[in-house]
Amino acid sequence: MSFLRFNALKESGNRPKMPIEEKGRRSEMFASHVFNNEKMQQYLTKDAYLSVQAAIMKGAKIERKVADQIAEGMKTWAISMGATHYTHWFQPLTGSTAEKHDAFFEINKEGRAVEKFGGGQLVQQEPDASSFPNGGIRNTFEARGYTAWDPTSPAFVYGSTLCIPTIFVAYTGEALDNKAPLLRALHAVDEAATEVARYFDKTVNKVWATLGWEQEYFLVDKALAYSRPDIALAGRTIVGKASAKGQQLDDHYFGVIHSRVLDFMKDLERECTLLGIPVKTRHNEVAPMQFEMAPVFEEANLAVDHNLLLMDIMEKVADRHNFKVLFHEKPFAGVNGSGKHNNWSLATDTGVNLLSPGTTPMKNLQFLTFFVNTIKAVDTYEELLRSSIASASNDHRLGANEAPPAILSIFIGEQLNGVLDDLEGVSKGKLSPEEKTELKLNVVGKIPEILLDNTDRNRTSPFAFTGNKFEMRGVGSKANCAKPMTVLNTIMAKQLKDFKKEVDKLVDGKDFKKDEAIFNVLREYIKSSKRIRFEGDGYSEAWEKEAKKRKLSNNKNTPEALAVYTHKASLALFKEMGVMTEVEATAHKEVELEAYVFHIQIEGRVFNELIYNHILPAAVDFQTGLLKNIQALKEVYGTGFKKMASPQMAIVEEVSLHIEAIKRLTDEMTAERRSANALEHIEKKAAAYCDKVKPHFDEIRYHCDKLETLVADDLWPLAKYRELLFLK
Ligand code: ADP
Ligand code: MG
Repeated sequence: MSFLRFNALKESGNRPKMPIEEKGRRSEMFASHVFNNEKMQQYLTKDAYLSVQAAIMKGAKIERKVADQIAEGMKTWAISMGATHYTHWFQPLTGSTAEKHDAFFEINKEGRAVEKFGGGQLVQQEPDASSFPNGGIRNTFEARGYTAWDPTSPAFVYGSTLCIPTIFVAYTGEALDNKAPLLRALHAVDEAATEVARYFDKTVNKVWATLGWEQEYFLVDKALAYSRPDIALAGRTIVGKASAKGQQLDDHYFGVIHSRVLDFMKDLERECTLLGIPVKTRHNEVAPMQFEMAPVFEEANLAVDHNLLLMDIMEKVADRHNFKVLFHEKPFAGVNGSGKHNNWSLATDTGVNLLSPGTTPMKNLQFLTFFVNTIKAVDTYEELLRSSIASASNDHRLGANEAPPAILSIFIGEQLNGVLDDLEGVSKGKLSPEEKTELKLNVVGKIPEILLDNTDRNRTSPFAFTGNKFEMRGVGSKANCAKPMTVLNTIMAKQLKDFKKEVDKLVDGKDFKKDEAIFNVLREYIKSSKRIRFEGDGYSEAWEKEAKKRKLSNNKNTPEALAVYTHKASLALFKEMGVMTEVEATAHKEVELEAYVFHIQIEGRVFNELIYNHILPAAVDFQTGLLKNIQALKEVYGTGFKKMASPQMAIVEEVSLHIEAIKRLTDEMTAERRSANALEHIEKKAAAYCDKVKPHFDEIRYHCDKLETLVADDLWPLAKYRELLFLK
């Protein structure tokens, strides 16, 4: 009998209730643990305050003396909030966050204990970061890494620690994290989009990229989760027979939230509120025990930080409620996986959403400009955008017949397709007064002010326009959104920069009116980016064929998808937009490939453990029991036993067949792993793990799941799907 599983089942069934009362109004609690604008005004000198504002708005440098004042104010506030430590909070290339806590406490010259935190500690730190992945950057340059304050994301107190968001860079300046490239991309898109927005409104001085993520996740009882080595170590079930009931009844989606889960959510939302994460929506998702949480959108860098912080808080709060939260994109076979839709747009400092249709033809021309440029940018760099969401765990979704496909395409809905078709017909060159009127009234004027309810929803599209924003749906639930956001904003910046050049050239050279020039350039973009627009079923085989004809990339796995990262065109793009040097881009790719290899390697090892220490022993025990029975029948009934024992004998043989297959395939997989490990080149190694090691997983699993159907329940050592997915 397997004690671990049954003890866990007992424990999970006896969980005490942890009712969470909603205390206080959310609006009053909101961001009370954040050193935001309001607190800065309260705790900082005027000089210090203005200096931080200039740094946030214009990227101005903060003088050392002023930094000391800021640190002093921040420290006073943090201590009043109960903080004893501070940390530089950063995003190494592992994809999650890192922190190293230091106490404010110090001994002064007189030997007295004082609380100290100066500008030096605020602005820069040098964590011993030699164990973070760096893709060879630090080896090449023999430089150490340091963290540097990002004033655009406010510091916050979490528990008893003041957390200061920072970037993480090598001494030679190369980014060793996901935040530095994102900030550079956001700067690039700000510059380019501001210039274009000024065609329509001269008072625009800044453009922010906005991001609203939708975090999907699973919850599993903690005892059950830790009773399974695969969930504990790989964050997903590597084996497991489908439960008789899964999601076929659609009775979970938007259903009543289970009280134990609701208590977790309330507790979580309270913590988020204190930390200034504007969480808004919570609901059940499609699969049993799958949920979603979404905030109000924010400036993209802040939204990325908030998502990372959220994932961290979720793990801690889940633990308190005796859950383990699973961020893996495919924790359970046969039911829906998890994603993290990234809703993205651009907003001006004058309060205008540039992807929102307006009330006047001029406003709509502005909308069309940003709309068409987004389509053009995605068309040109579709493969690069696809690579930004590649990971071992996301491979279970993209291109694996699960939302959305690995082929990038854009869905804009019937109405906007109509508008673009009309615009395509605009004649070349200068426009006659009649044509202008026609355009204004019947084409641009036709865009309804509120498209939101008109854009029909195509759930199979990986990049959909949803009324006033684009929704990038391929991002994995586990991913750091900084990666796709870096690429999306970089390609948009490049596109807008080119657009501006083309329009200006027409205006200067051919004496076009500005709107004529804009119409002319947009018309050409609409024509040349047509292949990326697709309104049909993104999961169908027909689309895969059609996409191939259109020469759209279809990279189904991570090693294939990542290759484009260092192609000439990508390197030139990153360089031109000041987002990444060749060294950085190469390093980022290498780190991603390493992560890919490690993930599959860990899963392979967990597989070995599951097979040899759990599954095969259970199967053999079960078989031994049957054989004892057969033996006993023979002893009692003599030659007549055969008829009676034949079902048992058939099962014994069936079990043997699976045992044989499992042993053979597992040993083959292990041998493949060994030869993959011997490969030196990371690209070759990743390819070997992808093509030689991973395919064994499904084959082995098939036989394991067959054994699960055969072996007596009391002997089966691993918590079953129905136990993991259906909370009592
Ligand atoms: P869905 O139907 O896809 O679940 P929701 O309405 O629940 O869509 O979520 C939409 C998400 O888009 C929310 O997180 C919201 O904050 C975000 N969003 C709305 N407007 C913008 C915008 N202008 N820029 C970025 N994100 C936005
Ligand atoms: Mg969505």
